[in-house]
Amino acid sequence: MLTNSSILLEAASASCALAAIMFWSGARFMKLSARATLNWAVANALFSVGTLLTVRRADSGQIPLYVLADALELIGFVFVHRGLGIFFQSPPPKLEHPLVIGIAALSMAYAYSTGHATIRLAIYCVVASWILGRAGLVALKGARQEFGWPAASASALPIIAACIAELLRGAIGVFEPASATSDSLRDTTVNLWMDWANLILSLALNISLAGLVVARLVARIRDLTLTDPLTGVMNRRAVEDFLARQMAEQRRHGSPVSVVYLDLDHFKALNDLYGHAAGDAAINHAVDKVRTQLRAGDALGRHGGEEFLVVMLNTDAQGAQAAAERMRSAVATAPLVWQERLLRLSASFGVATASASEGLTPEELLHRADKAMYAAKESGRNRVVVAARASGAEGAR
Ligand code: GH3
Ligand code: MG
Ligand code: MG
Repeated sequence: MLTNSSILLEAASASCALAAIMFWSGARFMKLSARATLNWAVANALFSVGTLLTVRRADSGQIPLYVLADALELIGFVFVHRGLGIFFQSPPPKLEHPLVIGIAALSMAYAYSTGHATIRLAIYCVVASWILGRAGLVALKGARQEFGWPAASASALPIIAACIAELLRGAIGVFEPASATSDSLRDTTVNLWMDWANLILSLALNISLAGLVVARLVARIRDLTLTDPLTGVMNRRAVEDFLARQMAEQRRHGSPVSVVYLDLDHFKALNDLYGHAAGDAAINHAVDKVRTQLRAGDALGRHGGEEFLVVMLNTDAQGAQAAAERMRSAVATAPLVWQERLLRLSASFGVATASASEGLTPEELLHRADKAMYAAKESGRNRVVVAARASGAEGAR
């Protein structure tokens, strides 16, 4: 076990330097939460230099060097807080940081010049724990909203632990000045514990900050693989997975699941007449209209080019037919305005229901809805057809 204070501080400085390079590369080359990670790169660079100055200042004994080392570390904490504020879009009040740092720097300079070592330690620790406490709250609140409790605790814990450690350090410095003197390089037991805590907490802090960036990246990738880029609704894989999961769940509870399969009418003609951009706008327009008719818990996904699937939980055939009729009407009665023209849209709907007792597979259910949709096309389009329970389809508009 390392028992030399300056070695521990040098290790902390080196680890912060590495973290600074890691965050800077993340921001510069991978564009990973670039503004936030750039702030964390600056924070680590300041910690690294500040800690090195702490090691070196013992040789020089110059007061400005002491003040500089502490100021760099405090400004480093400010950059951690700033980065978290940017990452979670919750910036601190504008004047907070300059005010806190200004007051701290002046008081510490005074404390140094008059030789009040415990006062300067207390000021440093109070200011550091204030900024870290604020940063910890931003991490806790932001991560809870975005990733849930486990990730929030994991990301905020090292910051809050660092905040408590600073408070403890200040308290020990004030109440036990003999064991934790202004000279943090004396190898007292208290100092060595502090240096270990400093090393471990700075590592934990950087791991959790990097963890936040990775968590957001993973969530983005998951969204991309499950979302249709044109409309923003679920893609085919996502909506089919949702259907399969919900059918299994609903069967356990004995409730029916219904699906509505819809395909826009004469869409090729619209594309040919007005161009692909108009076609894309029409797809988005139809999605907006269908969406207005969904209830909480319903899922809408793009199943193909201009084919969509709505999954409705706890909904029997009658309820699904009524919902599909509302969707049909919403699409048919609200034309798209395209380059000062009104483009009328309509869609054909197939409805199929899986009752809990029937034991249909998701593929069979989709097949029924698809067949019903084709029956709607054949019987004139812009209509709803409900699939018969066994096979075939029965008209219902
Ligand atoms: P029907 O009434 O029988 O459905 O006639 P339709 O012309 O709509 O026929 P179909 O459903 O087979 O046509 C699908 C067309 O939708 C083919 C393709 O040109 C167009 N399409 C598919 N995906 C997109 C897309 O993302 N954007 C645009 N603009 N058009 C698309
Ligand atoms: Mg079509
Ligand atoms: Mg089609």
